[in-house]
Parts: sequence; structure tokens; C-alpha cells
Amino acid sequence: MAGDRWRLSVAADRCVGSGVCAASAPHRFFVEDGLARPEHEVVDAEDELIDVAESCPMEAVFVRVEGSGELLTPPE
Ligand code: SF4
Repeated sequence: MAGDRWRLSVAADRCVGSGVCAASAPHRFFVEDGLARPEHEVVDAEDELIDVAESCPMEAVFVRVEGSGELLTPPE
């Protein structure tokens, strides 16, 4: 995974704006108008991002491998 780039997104139809993601990773996510968004859509692979995504109570944070599009989380 070293050297991989990951694409972050938030599913607007799932996010309830709880802010859990932004609280645990304020450099990665922010909440605006009740919807979380990634600060940067494509970032270096970082295990912390999986933890943050998995902490979302709505499974709204999607992490994909940039290029292949492989979905890392949430489970389908
Ligand atoms: S933790 Fe999930 S539901 Fe809460 S703001 Fe972040 S993406 Fe939205």
C-alpha cells in the first residue's frame, strides 16, 4: 500500500452531519451545511483514514484506491 493514493468521498444520502469524522481527523474532513466533505479528495494512503471512515455511524465515508477504484471501506 505504500505509495498508494486513495480517493475520499462522503455519500450525501448517508451523512447526517454528526461531525465524528471531522472531530477525529480535522485535517481530513470538515462539515458544512450539515454535510461532511473531504479536505482533499485524493490523498496519500494512510491507515488512519480507514479508522476514521469506520468510525462514521452511517458508513458514509468511502475510501477507494485511486486509479483502480477498489473500494476499501465501507463494506458493500
Ligand atoms: S461521521 Fe459520517 S455521518 Fe458524521 S459527519 Fe462524518 S460522514 Fe457525516
